Amino acid sequence: MNIPTAQPLYDTFTRISLRFKQGRGAWLITDKGDRYLDFTSGIAVNALGHAHPHLVEALKDQADRLWHVSNLFDNPLQTKMAERLRSVSFADKVFFANSGAEAIECAIKTARRYYYMNNQPECFRIITFQGAFHGRTLATLAAGGQKKHLEGFGPKVQGFTQIPVADATALLSAINQETAAIMIEPIQGEGGVRLVPVEILRFLRRICNEKGLLLIFDEVQSGIGRTGKLFAHEWAGVSPDIMGIAKGIGGGFPLGACLATKDAAKGMLPGSHGTTFGGNPLAMAVGHAVLDIILEPEFLSHVNRMAQMLKQGLSAIVDQYPHIVSSVEGLGLLTGLKCIMPNTEIISALRDEKLLAVEAGANVVRILPPLNILEDEMCEGLHRIEKTIARLAKKKCMKNSV
Ligand SMILES: *Cc1c(COP(=O)(O)O)cnc(C)c1O
Repeated sequence: MNIPTAQPLYDTFTRISLRFKQGRGAWLITDKGDRYLDFTSGIAVNALGHAHPHLVEALKDQADRLWHVSNLFDNPLQTKMAERLRSVSFADKVFFANSGAEAIECAIKTARRYYYMNNQPECFRIITFQGAFHGRTLATLAAGGQKKHLEGFGPKVQGFTQIPVADATALLSAINQETAAIMIEPIQGEGGVRLVPVEILRFLRRICNEKGLLLIFDEVQSGIGRTGKLFAHEWAGVSPDIMGIAKGIGGGFPLGACLATKDAAKGMLPGSHGTTFGGNPLAMAVGHAVLDIILEPEFLSHVNRMAQMLKQGLSAIVDQYPHIVSSVEGLGLLTGLKCIMPNTEIISALRDEKLLAVEAGANVVRILPPLNILEDEMCEGLHRIEKTIARLAKKKCMKNSV
C-alpha cells in the first residue's frame, strides 16, 4: 500500500511531471517551451481547444460585469442557456451544476422523485451497466459500481443494480417492483471507449416505454458534439427522459447540467434540490460561447470529417502493427485505441513524441482531440502516433530476437 507523501496535496492523483503554462488551440506549451499536441482536451473538456478567442472574450466580458449572484435571484443568462439547450434536445427543463457527477446526481434524484410524486416511493432502483463511470460522489460511485472506486468508503449507496451491457436476459430479470430507471452512457468513456450498439439503446428505450421506467443517458463525456452529433444518442434516434452533460459544455469552465422532460422533472419542485454555484454568470457566459460555435451549421460536419480522418489513420496503424494495437474503438472524436502492449507504456511513448493521450479501462488509449482541430494538426497527430507505434514495434522486435 502507498503511504502519504510530504507534498501538500492529497495523494489522489499520480501526476505526470509536465507543467503547462499556456495553451493555444490544440497545443499546450510547457514552462520549458516544449509544444505538445493535446489529444486529451482536458479529458474531453476543452471541446474548442485552449484559449479560444470567442470563449476568452465571453469570460473576460462577463468578469467585468458580474461573477455570482447565487440562485436566489433571477438569472437571465441561465434561462436563456436552458432555452437554447431545450431547443436542440429532447428536454423541457434544465438544472445547472458544476460538474459531471453533480449532473448525474441530479439525474438520479430526478428519477427517484418522479416515483415519489407518483405515490410509488418504493420505486427507487436504477439499473446501470458493468464498466460504467458516472462520477465520484457516493451515489454516482454506487451507480458506476467499480470495486476499486468504492473500496473503503463505507456502505455503498443503495438502489443500483449492475448488469452486463449487451445482456437482454439479465436486463429483463433485473427489472422488478422497485425499479425506477435505467442509466447508461451511450459510449463508455472511462470504461474503455466502448460504444453501446444503437440497437441496444433502442431496446432500452422500448423496455422503458413498456415497463413505465425512466431512461437516463449519461452524456457527460459523449455530449456536446464529441461524437459528431450534438448528443451521442442522436445516432440511435432515441431520446432519454433525463440526461446529464458536463465536460465539453463549459469548454474548460466547470459546468454541468441535468436535462429532463417536463414529466420526468415533475418531482423537482421548490426546495427539492439546490446548488450555490451552479449556473453562475461566469459559467453561463462561457457555456453560451461554446454553444455559439458548436451550433454553427457546419461545425459538426467538421467534427465528422476529422473523425473519419482519425479513424482511417488509426485503422492503418492497427493493420500495420497488430502486435502493438488491436482495434479502433468509439465514435467521432471520442476514440480509443485498444492495445496489446500496456496502454500506459504507449501513452508514455506518445508523450516522448510530444503527443498527449489519456488512459481508459480495458487497456485502451483514449484519443480526444479538440473538436475544432485543424486538418494539418490531425495529420501531425496521426504522424506522431504512427512514429511512436513503429518505434515500440521495433523495440519489441529487437527484444524478441535477443
Ligand atoms: C467525467 C464523467 C463523469 C464525472 O464528471 P466530473 O465532472 O468528473 O464529476 C460522469 N460521467 C461520465 C460519463 C464521465 O465521463
